[in-house]
Amino acid sequence: MSDVRIDDLPVRDELRGTSPYGAPQLDVPVRLNTNENPYPLPEPLVERIAERVREAARHLNRYPDRDAVELRARLAEYLTRTSGHAVGLGNVWAANGSNEVIQQLLQTFGGPGRTAIGFEPSYSMHALIARGTGTGWISGPRGEDFTIDLAAAREAIAEHRPDVVFVTTPNNPTGTAVPPETVTALYEAAQAAKPSMVIVDEAYIEFSHGASLLPLLEGRPHLVVSRTMSKAFGAAGLRLGYLAAHPAVVDAVQLVRLPYHLSAVTQATALAALEHTDTLLGYVEQLKTERDRLVTELRAIGYEVTASDANFVQFGRFADAHAVWQQILDRGVLVRDNGVPGWLRVTAGTPQENDAFLDAVRELKKEQS
Ligand code: PMP
Repeated sequence: MSDVRIDDLPVRDELRGTSPYGAPQLDVPVRLNTNENPYPLPEPLVERIAERVREAARHLNRYPDRDAVELRARLAEYLTRTSGHAVGLGNVWAANGSNEVIQQLLQTFGGPGRTAIGFEPSYSMHALIARGTGTGWISGPRGEDFTIDLAAAREAIAEHRPDVVFVTTPNNPTGTAVPPETVTALYEAAQAAKPSMVIVDEAYIEFSHGASLLPLLEGRPHLVVSRTMSKAFGAAGLRLGYLAAHPAVVDAVQLVRLPYHLSAVTQATALAALEHTDTLLGYVEQLKTERDRLVTELRAIGYEVTASDANFVQFGRFADAHAVWQQILDRGVLVRDNGVPGWLRVTAGTPQENDAFLDAVRELKKEQS
């Protein structure tokens, strides 16, 4: 039994020799590696979740609301209130994390014989979900400073004529925000090449100095904005992602979603969290201050830092980033080596966690000079 390995199984050819997504889950004192929110949910919200889940438990003999109507209505209200752009129930779809949202989008608009493009380095799951859905992946270019070079991006779109274009703003792992003019220009370039979908991944938008790109949905039926409760809402363990788009897009993803994909427990928990939006957004403000402090302090120590609009900061440059990652880990702090040559990424934690991280890298810098 135990001598059978993956390669001995008749797995799809394109999966052979690949590895699963795997940020290390190590038991160390300070974990600043997966862009989680460091603040546990406040106790009154924990109570409210328990209450709502208790009520949902009374009906677990039945399938949940397949269309998650109440949840989508509350998400639409949240988007409208925070962006100033009117979003209705019919514009919103929800799934188990924005990863599942993206998977459903690629199942709908990508797939065998089709391609998707992302401007790399960016969120590695876009390429992995493309692979999992049989969608061809095109690695588009980014400038030296990690912004999207519009001319080069347009050229790549014209050359490859992708069916799906990913724009991540703020971008992971660099923290770079993409200006709305760039997104509209990419949208136009994409439509000129062929009628394709443009997915704006706004997983970190609540941490941005700038505004959401939701208003760009107006008059652009091929644009999708994807969001998550994993970061700003401090609920990575909940697994709740959502999208806003033209109602036709919401109808289209229902062609591939599994029936009853969002459990009643998930829906109840997300609804409870949305009742506490203002408290949770208060934590976001604290994290933005801490993110800005990390940028300033890292620069003062002598590191190069990429301007960040997210809850993490990319810093470098290192001749051997992985060796530095290990040296920081040896000091009890886990950061992320995303494989971007010369750079590491640190998530903004609590002030104490950030101090521990800054002490560690300060010490390293001293040893090296
Ligand atoms: N998009 C981006 C850019 C991310 O960084 C992440 C999480 N790291 C996600 C989407 C997925 O988040 P989730 O599935 O937890 O909503």
